Amino acid sequence: MALMKRFKSSDNFPVNSEYKLLPIRFTELDNERVVITNMVGEHIVVSQDSLNSLITRSKPLDDSLLAELYSKHIIYDGVSQLPLKLSGLKYRTKIARLKNFTALHMVVTTLRCDYTCHYCQVSRQNLSSDNSQFDMTVETADKVLNLIFKSPAKALKIEFQGGESLLNFDVIKHIVLNAEIRAETEGRNMQYVIATNLSPLNDEILEFCKLYRIYISTSLDGPFKLHNRNRPRPGNNGHQLTVAAIDKVKSHIGIDHISALMTTSGRSLDFSKEIIDEYIKNGLHAIFLRPLSPYGFAVTKGHINRYDTEKWLDFFKESLSYIIEVNKQGYPLIEQYSSLILTKILTARDLGYVDLQSPAGAMISGIIYNYDGDVYASDEARMQAEIGHTEFRLGNVNENTYEEIIGNEFMLDSIEKSFAISSPQCTDCAFLPYCGSDPVYHLATQNDVVGNKQLSGFCKKNIGIFKLLITLLEDSDLHTKRILKSWARY
Ligand code: SF4
Repeated sequence: MALMKRFKSSDNFPVNSEYKLLPIRFTELDNERVVITNMVGEHIVVSQDSLNSLITRSKPLDDSLLAELYSKHIIYDGVSQLPLKLSGLKYRTKIARLKNFTALHMVVTTLRCDYTCHYCQVSRQNLSSDNSQFDMTVETADKVLNLIFKSPAKALKIEFQGGESLLNFDVIKHIVLNAEIRAETEGRNMQYVIATNLSPLNDEILEFCKLYRIYISTSLDGPFKLHNRNRPRPGNNGHQLTVAAIDKVKSHIGIDHISALMTTSGRSLDFSKEIIDEYIKNGLHAIFLRPLSPYGFAVTKGHINRYDTEKWLDFFKESLSYIIEVNKQGYPLIEQYSSLILTKILTARDLGYVDLQSPAGAMISGIIYNYDGDVYASDEARMQAEIGHTEFRLGNVNENTYEEIIGNEFMLDSIEKSFAISSPQCTDCAFLPYCGSDPVYHLATQNDVVGNKQLSGFCKKNIGIFKLLITLLEDSDLHTKRILKSWARY
């Protein structure tokens, strides 16, 4: 009652229909509706009719729609500076990552691997002892460290990759111990990730990971049969070793220190439910659903041709629907790609995921050092180099200075072309604030760093996911909406 006295009814606050449009883009969501976004990614879904009325002013818009358009900074009254200032502030927050040049440093400790995964994107080498030339040496590791610490970013993440990264654990130890000393002196915050198939895991490694709060990222493709067929190793016991090691990491370091991702092979498509159940069985609370990437053995051995983007999107949709169901039944499980995108859709934040950045995240957000000291703009650029396409090789830590490496002309030119806002088709796309550009992908698939988006699997996949998530946010029951909103990292 007291509240009623204090506030007048909404009729006392007429919405100004003399609006001006702020910079917006719109794209069809389905046959009847469009998504409108502003420069910072605030979005609204309206009917085609309402869009026409909004642009042409041919019919008055109803007050509740007008109020929402004002609050989402799609329109303003043409006088107040506040909407412009707020949008500017949000834009600054979105691109704040640019000042953290370069936060993620991936270090390939070895190309050797005990697995022979069909879709492997790297030219892994077998375990033979003659293959020690494919291990990073301590001397190269020291030069890599020098370069990492030249990056202006205050928070640095070092991610160890392979081959099987743990097969050269001595170099991992060397880098972590020395990075800790430098970080202390320079006041930097360090984070470490080991990407590993976990088969070399032992007590010494576990202790070290615990001591230095090292995060483990592994691969789990699904239940026993599927995992072992996708990821063969001698003895055909990859699944058994992986789940046993996941258990060890969970009990020794904690569930928060391990995550897994799956790669979708042609044979995975029929097993979305079984794959997710496998994650639940192993007590994991996050899954990253990934399609095959058009690099390395996935291309040379033809695995990439086993399904197209549409089929993968059907798989993704089916999996997501089951993940939401699982959450409703009380088991918290996040799909990580959706979580990255929902954060962009629902908040002013951008988590800096390399593939969804404009300008491109390659080199700006992440950079990779190969075992031999070669530096590449991204992991995918390294994979392309393995099959002879070295355009994104930026230099070598043994031969080039930091300035020469980050001043690589081909890379700078590609970054200049990678602003989605000036790319044909992206410039008119409502999903631009959530998307990015991937010059390495487009050079690999279309021999052009910008690429024709009509022909781009990158574009098709992302449009499919943006539309799916926005449709779910619009049309689902309250419980589903609440689950999806909880995946955004505010
Ligand atoms: S790549 Fe496709 S989805 Fe992304 S902004 Fe460009 S046109 Fe839109």
